Amino acid sequence: MIARENPARSGELVGCVPATEPAAVDSAVRRADDAFREWSKIPITERITALLGAAGAVSARSEELATLLARESGKPLADCRGEIGFAVAFLRWVCDRAPITLAPTEIDDAAGRLVVRRKPYGVVGCITPWNAPVILALLKLGPALVAGNTVVLKPSPLAPLAITEIVSLLPAVQVVHGGAETGRALVGHPLVRKVAFTGGDAAGREIAATAGAMTTPSVLELGGNDPAVFLPDFALADADYERLVMASFATSGQVCMAAKRLYVPRARVAEFTEAYVAAAERILVVGDPLDPRVTMGPVISAGAAARIRALLAASAGGTAVPLGRNAPGHDPLSGYFVTPRLVVGLDDDAPLVAAEQFGPLVPLLVYDDEEEVLTRANASELGLGASVWSADEERAFALADRLEAGFVFVNTHNRTGMSLRAPFGGIKRSGYGREYGEEGLLEYVHPAVVHAPAAFRPGGTGMAAGAYPG
Ligand code: NAD
Repeated sequence: MIARENPARSGELVGCVPATEPAAVDSAVRRADDAFREWSKIPITERITALLGAAGAVSARSEELATLLARESGKPLADCRGEIGFAVAFLRWVCDRAPITLAPTEIDDAAGRLVVRRKPYGVVGCITPWNAPVILALLKLGPALVAGNTVVLKPSPLAPLAITEIVSLLPAVQVVHGGAETGRALVGHPLVRKVAFTGGDAAGREIAATAGAMTTPSVLELGGNDPAVFLPDFALADADYERLVMASFATSGQVCMAAKRLYVPRARVAEFTEAYVAAAERILVVGDPLDPRVTMGPVISAGAAARIRALLAASAGGTAVPLGRNAPGHDPLSGYFVTPRLVVGLDDDAPLVAAEQFGPLVPLLVYDDEEEVLTRANASELGLGASVWSADEERAFALADRLEAGFVFVNTHNRTGMSLRAPFGGIKRSGYGREYGEEGLLEYVHPAVVHAPAAFRPGGTGMAAGAYPG
């Protein structure tokens, strides 16, 4: 069994799931492969009906599921409600768009008859992390299932409970539980026809290598080290500063697309720092995720807390400014709580700046001109998200175009900047493939072509053997 404890209350058991031995992954994949024969054959309209029914069933249980998610992940209850609501909205969006995006195209003209059908791959192996276990699974399951694939999902053992309940409401999904070994057995299975992974770089590289060796197509959503660039004319009201603070500290900073490096023009650093610290004092309330006043809970594990504290200790030369406040009566020793901090005075090669911190620490970095900040923002090997903040939208879009990232937000960052219709994913070492949007739907189909060239159709004029068409 895999037991999950509440990271906010040491020793409190939240629930258990049965561990799947790597050998048992084979049975799950075979069941999914058998189910594929039926599921892929039924009309898309029937699959949509089944998925909309599941969306309704998840929605009806959202309060209970949000509480379970908060207790297993340490994320504040409001975040968990938001994640589940967003996942349901995404599922409904997929059902709305799929008939259009996945419709076959047919051309019958003077050049011939060409049919392109969007066909499912078969069994999709999905592996997800703990930080947003519901939406990150649904981003794969929704498009895969609507297209006619079946799925074997391996959630993270650090937050398997709510997503397992949700998957029990969905058709055509098997769940396997475990860590890296179970994931390896899934990725390496010969009947898995597509792999969809969200997680860290090390696992991503190994999965890409295994999938590559088997020519299994994959989509990889990996880490980020997003810069937030404040142009000299940025104009932020109190609410904007609060949104910016939460862009770094939502989910205790454990979000792939969190604002992880803040680049502020030298002339405005004092003003920025003062307003930022004041906004954090208003918006950032640390405590138990079930307390409705709380906006930041613990980090996921004792190991994560130790790693983040070590990162801070290694950031010599910086000054760490504690942010926010504790909820009344909160005991920081009750779980894996790490004080949120703004760290000023670091060089770009400090570990906290150069690597993804994935925790409640954010560096404030000073720049002098736009070309310099562009070079520094683009210096990372990661290229997931970024943001530009300016009173002049044209100027922001112009700089955004030169940032090396899959997704650039303007005057916001992190989840407030997302859109169901906008493809999301990284470049460079942040992975490949996309989720959300039309591109996210097309990840789970291959274009199957049938072509009758005009030259060889009845009445056609033929063509010399071995010739290229004109
Ligand atoms: P992780 O890589 O440790 O684990 C992710 C999942 O992969 C888990 O289910 C884990 O059990 C499994 N796994 C680990 N090693 C594996 C292997 N060798 N083979 C197969 N499966 C394996 O990541 P995590 O700590 O759960 O998540 C944090 C990371 O995820 C961060 O780097 C974060 O930025 C990234 N992330 C990216 C996105 C995105 O959309 N790009 C979204 C959320 C999180």
